[in-house]
Amino acid sequence: MPDPFGSPVAARDRGLVWHPYAPLDGPEPYAVESATGVRLTLTAPDGGRHEVVDAMASWWCAVHGYRNPVLDAAAHEQLDRFSHVMFGGLTHEPAVRLAERLTAMAPGPMAHVFFADSGSVSVEVALKLSLQYQAARGRPKRQRFLTVRGGYHGDTFAAMSVCDPVDGMHSAFPGALARQVFAPRPPAARLVVTATGDERWETDRLALQEWTTEVRALAATHSDELAAVVVEPVLQGAGGMHVYHPESLRVLREVADDHGLLLVLDEIATGFGRTGRPFASEWADVTPDVMCVGKALTGGYLSLAAVVMTRDVGEAITRSAFRALLHGPTFMANPLACAVADASVELVESTWKDHVPRVGRLLSEHLEPAAALPHVADVRTLGAVGVVQLTSPVDVPRITRAALERGVWVRPFRDLVYTMPPYVCTDDDVRLIAEGIVGAVAEAHG
Ligand SMILES: *Cc1c(COP(=O)(O)O)cnc(C)c1O
Repeated sequence: MPDPFGSPVAARDRGLVWHPYAPLDGPEPYAVESATGVRLTLTAPDGGRHEVVDAMASWWCAVHGYRNPVLDAAAHEQLDRFSHVMFGGLTHEPAVRLAERLTAMAPGPMAHVFFADSGSVSVEVALKLSLQYQAARGRPKRQRFLTVRGGYHGDTFAAMSVCDPVDGMHSAFPGALARQVFAPRPPAARLVVTATGDERWETDRLALQEWTTEVRALAATHSDELAAVVVEPVLQGAGGMHVYHPESLRVLREVADDHGLLLVLDEIATGFGRTGRPFASEWADVTPDVMCVGKALTGGYLSLAAVVMTRDVGEAITRSAFRALLHGPTFMANPLACAVADASVELVESTWKDHVPRVGRLLSEHLEPAAALPHVADVRTLGAVGVVQLTSPVDVPRITRAALERGVWVRPFRDLVYTMPPYVCTDDDVRLIAEGIVGAVAEAHG
């Protein structure tokens, strides 16, 4: 019997095109024919179609849904002017407008923006600029980074070096990665939202104290060789969907200040409302020196990321021998991407508050039944993020298929089945996602 979700395109793809972290002869991918709103349309071999809700928002990017009229209009308008020009010596309205919007929206007094073409590259730039910053301040020996275990910051070499040393890709590239200083993962915490909407963070206070002592000691030991602290604030994404207490972030800010390090916050996954604050650092009232944003920046339309920084950082680099930030990609500040990003961020600013708490409430309510399943270790939510953690690694092909049969697209990893849905999901869409996840877990791991 032919696979009801198979397709001729997927058959041609197999063995020809590499997919993320997948072998050439891995399971056949599913082919998308079109996408509208929060739904993907998958092609079937008989020409039939399956409509499924995208519980992943295309790896957390498509917060406004597909073919969003506002973003489509922004793209068309810019396409009719020009799609790209080099950024060396030239500038354009979309880049300047987006930079103004990002510096205004970012927490704290941010003054400058560097546009990069992907999240990983923005992390590279943030790390590079930290070294330039320290060199400009007469501390050229400060070339390492303090981070926490369990992080994910991208796939390029410097970004990989600050990813979790065990679960990341360190073992595949022994000797090729810079050796960074790893503090333990901050203890888990959860945000309790009461019926009246009050929010309260809970964690193991003793574990948090011990962690704090350890981080402080580690920073003191390595102070002379450290350039910056680099972490994902409050929610570690691809490193395990781990939620930690905002107090831990405040500790990292203090540690950075005590030792003259920059605080680089990677908000690529957490930015633009996803965790229930415009930026996750705002849970802690902490302002970074440098902040990376990407993913939802263009609403999932085009690849773009940005490094946003304070005036102090900009001034230090301006006083350095080179006077410039030593990076300049070919597609820097691509006008099409900037125009869509500006429209997307404007839309986020006016809509996230209506959507994220609502989506979050429904996810907590409808994922809760998973907690009673035999192989479920934990169910947690934060903002518009819902996570079901199993007691063993997920049977990815099986869960994927079981969820598709329930009208939901998920992409589990390790022991995690999770959703970061588009903000524009209706209440029914969110229920469908949550029930699809619970049903798929029960079927595949029950
Ligand atoms: C996805 C992600 C990155 C990498 O972004 P790419 O656009 O895939 O290069 C970096 N940091 C975090 C926190 C991410 O979630």
